[in-house]
Order: sequence, then structure tokens, then C-alpha cells
Amino acid sequence: MKLLDSKNILITGGSRGIGKGIAKVVAKHGGNVAFTYNSSSHTAEELESELKALGVNAKAYQSDASDFDQAQKLAEEVIKDFGSIDVLINNAGITKDNLLMRMSEDDFNKVISINLNSVFNLTKAVLRPMLKQRHGSIINISSVVGLKGNAGQANYSASKAGIIGFSKSVALELGSRNIRSNVIAPGFIETEMTEKLDEKTVEGWRQAIPLKRGGQPEDVANACVFLASDMSSYITGQTLSVDGGMLT
Ligand code: NAP
Repeated sequence: MKLLDSKNILITGGSRGIGKGIAKVVAKHGGNVAFTYNSSSHTAEELESELKALGVNAKAYQSDASDFDQAQKLAEEVIKDFGSIDVLINNAGITKDNLLMRMSEDDFNKVISINLNSVFNLTKAVLRPMLKQRHGSIINISSVVGLKGNAGQANYSASKAGIIGFSKSVALELGSRNIRSNVIAPGFIETEMTEKLDEKTVEGWRQAIPLKRGGQPEDVANACVFLASDMSSYITGQTLSVDGGMLT
């Protein structure tokens, strides 16, 4: 018996980076994976096949998480295809960094819409089915930057801090229905995106982290497995930092 056997898990933004890592690790633990992407259809198809090869049910869906109606339609389709949604992992996110002086209104709104409105959209979409089945685990991917702020990321920090307040409120509202809501706050996670950065700069970041390394998508994924599984059945309203001790 695997930890996530028979659980149906919906992950937003599963085509690349951390979301892809989460999809692979939850599948290894027996979870069926429905995941979304915005534009990476080729990578999404490849991942769908990779997950199916692990012996679980898997399907990729093109769905813009910042669009309320698309989110509701997505949840309906996933329930039709998988039978239920036991776990929702709100992972989709973007950055549009700039100093406040130079940040456009559009770049502020876009980041809030994709990072924060998406969490509202998807949580609303799974709410009724989760209430009906009387269980559910919602995992929201925030960031160390949502806890401490960051120069050049006022839009991103605001969206990630907003996720924490939203998640705690959901935990309070829905605890009596056995629906849990928790946050993971990753620190510096090395993905394809960070591979493009200057190695000397990245090494400097690694040395500033107490565990002396950047995180891997699997580090975030392992925390997701715990919060998705019944091992965490008495944990809700929490924010778990997965940052190598960065905030300590
Ligand atoms: P990434 O490599 O850029 O991947 C982002 C994922 O989100 C992709 O699958 C992308 O799909 C999807 N996405 C973007 N906009 C979307 C939309 N409107 N609707 C649906 N999906 C959308 O990012 P990442 O580094 O893995 O980050 C994943 C999450 O972790 C984000 O919420 C991020 O803020 C958070 N985080 C990352 C780090 C880090 O160091 N990397 C640290 C802290 C927190 P497409 O491929 O189709 O574009």
C-alpha cells in the first residue's frame, strides 16, 4: 500500500519546474494526477505519458488558472474523468519583477491574477465536491518572499502573502467539514529557470542558505506528499517553509 493510493490530485501548473516535480513524486507514491498547463502542450503530453508509465491515472488539461470560468469547467472535467478531487495543489505562478518605481499597473495586476486569483478560482471550484465528500486537502504554494518581502518583487510578494491569509481563512471556514488548507513556502528552488542564471551568483545564494544548497523540486514535492496524505490529517492552517533554513 502506497501513501497516496487511490487519491486523485489536481495540480495547477504541472508542465514545468516545481509542479512537474510534484506530479512525478505524488505519482510514485500512488496518487492519480490531473495537472494543468497554460501553453507548454508538448511537455505536458510527455509528462502525462511518463506518469501513466508509473501505473497511475494521469491527464493533462490546458486551463488558465487565472480565469474563473475555466477553473470551474476544469474541476467538472477532472471529476468526470477521475471520479473525485481529493487533493488540490495550487502551484501555478509567474513573476514579473521590477522596482516599484518602474512596475506597471499591468505587471502588478497580472501577477496578482495568476498567482492569487487562481487560488481563489480553483478553491471555489473544488469547494462543493469536497464539502459533499466530506474530505479534502488544499495545498497552496507560496514563497519565502511572501513571508519576508523582496526588493523588486512587490507584486509577487503581495500575491504570495495573500495566499497565506486566504489559506488560513479557508482552514478556519472548512475545518469542521474535514477540509484542510495548508501552505508550502519554498525558498530558492533550482529549476530549468535558475539554470539560466549566472553560476557565480547562484553559488553565492547557495552559500547563504544554512543547508548550503538550493532546493530541488523534489524537496517541495515531498512536503506536498505529506500534506496530501492522511499522515497530516490533524494539520491545517499551517505554513511549512521548505527553504533549507533560509528564514531561520
Ligand atoms: P515555472 O518553472 O515557471 O513553472 C510555472 C508553471 O505554472 C508552468 O507549468 C506554467 O505552465 C504554469 N502556469 C503559468 N501561468 C499559468 C496559468 N495562467 N494557468 C495555468 N498554469 C500556469 O515556475 P516554478 O519555479 O516551478 O514555480 C512553481 C510555483 O512555485 C510558483 O507558484 C512559484 O511562485 C513558486 N515558487 C518557486 C520558487 C523557485 O525558486 N522556483 C520559489 C518559491 C516559490 P506553462 O508551462 O504552460 O507556461
